Order: sequence, then C-alpha cells, then structure tokens
Amino acid sequence: MTHDVVEIVEVGPRDGYQGIGPFIPTERKIEILGRLVAAGLRRIEIGSFVSATALPQMRDTPEVLAACARFPGLEPQVLVPSERRGRDAVAAGARRLVFVLSVSEAHNRNNVRRSPGESADEYDRLLRAIPGEVAIRLDLATAFDCPFEGRVPEERALALLDRLVALKPDAEICLCDTTGRADPAHVGRLFARAKARFPQAKAWALHAHDTYGLGLANVHAAYREDVRVFDASFAGLGGCPFAPGATGNVATEDLAWMFARMGVGTGIDLDALVAVAREGAALPGGLAGGRVRDAYGAGTACLAQAVT
Ligand code: ZN
Repeated sequence: MTHDVVEIVEVGPRDGYQGIGPFIPTERKIEILGRLVAAGLRRIEIGSFVSATALPQMRDTPEVLAACARFPGLEPQVLVPSERRGRDAVAAGARRLVFVLSVSEAHNRNNVRRSPGESADEYDRLLRAIPGEVAIRLDLATAFDCPFEGRVPEERALALLDRLVALKPDAEICLCDTTGRADPAHVGRLFARAKARFPQAKAWALHAHDTYGLGLANVHAAYREDVRVFDASFAGLGGCPFAPGATGNVATEDLAWMFARMGVGTGIDLDALVAVAREGAALPGGLAGGRVRDAYGAGTACLAQAVT
C-alpha cells in the first residue's frame, strides 16, 4: 500500500476568527497558534491585511505575524484583497500571501467593491509589486455557489481561471465553497475540468464549508480528483461575514480523523488537536461546528456499552 499524504491548511485564525464579535486578545491568539503548531499543523492562515473597520478582529494581524517566529516549522500565510494590502503584508514580513477574489460579480462587489475582472487586474499588479520568492495562493471564492446569485456556472469559474492561471501558473489555486452549498458531484466535476484545462497549474486546493453537512463529502470528492491540500478550521469555527448564513468551515479535527481512518497521512496529533479545538469552541462569540470534537474519547464508553 502506498502511503498517501495530504496537507491540511489551518484557516481558523483567519476565517474562523473574523466573524467573532468580541476581540480575541492578541496574546490569546498567539497562544492558540502555538497549540495548533504543537498539534502538527504547519501552514496556518494567521490573519488578513484588510480594513480594520470592516473586520476589526483582524486588526492585530501584523503583531500575530511577527510572533510566528516563535514557532519553528510554522509557515504563516495571510489573506490580502488588493495590491496595496499585499505590499503592506510583505513589508510586515509575510512570505506567503493569499489573494482572494470571487467568481460571482455580486459577491466580489460586496466584498471588495470591484468586478471580478477588476480584481484580476489587481492580482496582476500585486504579482508585479512583490518579490518573486513570496509564495502565492489564489483563493477563488464563490467558485461553486454565491449567496446572492446562487449556483455559479462551472464555465464562469473556468473562464476567470483562464486569465488568472496565465498570470502565474505556479500559484496554488484554491476553489472555495464559500456558502457550503456545493455538492460532491459538483466539486469533483469542477476540479476534473479545471485540472484538465490547466495542466500547467502547479497545485490545487479546496476550501470547504460544512453549512449543509456536506463538507467532508466535498473534501473526499476533491481528494478523489487528486487534490491534496485542504483548508479547515479548528472547532469548525468560521463563516464568511459577507456570505450570509455561511457558518462553519469544515472542522480540522473532522478532516484529520477522516484521513487518519483512511490511512492517509496528515502529520496531525489528534489528541492535541481535539484539546485545542475544545478551547476554540469555547471562545466567547465563536460559533463551532464539526462532530469529532464531541465524539472523540467521550464516545468510547457508549460504544463499549452498546455491544454488551
Ligand atoms: Zn471560508
């Protein structure tokens, strides 16, 4: 049996925290970061360079980024919506940027007040403005479904990628199910079509939400199309503040559990992850999701009882 490996990218400190009202003290964020690293997570989206008025929870991202040096092995990535924010992030020491734009016109306008085409121009400018050694990940939000426009035609996502992939073929491209309304057939088909259309693209990733309970099924559908990078949020924290009702990223501990059962390596220590996920679920104002956190450990006695 070949030993397969996937990379789980922890996005809780960005996607999970950004919708939480009460400000999480910076030292607490840094402490949790250390616990996530200790649980085996390596690539962590630690925040975003965005307007502090729009997302006050993210206002300490530069401080959190600076603190990442305390944790050997941690590869922090930060989300940016524009060239200017991207330059700010690089100046603050970021070496991995996530540029986000939406396939759907309405969502992109709501998010960054631009058309998707204008955001693609912005991406082009960002690429020219930053050093070549900065790693780029492209987050394609509403790749499957939009809170305002509903189901997004596959052709529209692919047409936008025509331009974006040409700008930087070695960027990692993440298709995001912003609303959680994608289904496994849709996910499998879009990845299959995108990979066939862009053989030059270096790496693909899926960002799944579990809003309708299909998060893990969608992850598995992408895995079957040879996607090996998956975003997840500890305790299932999250939701897009600009995608009404889109609560709940797929929980990191649910993914780690599934892949462990499948014999696929993640490098994650589940005991340590579940412990920090339980703390994440208890953060004031946080909305937790996922199943493994509650079942893990506590379920053993019931299972033993059920067979007697
Ligand atoms: Zn998300």
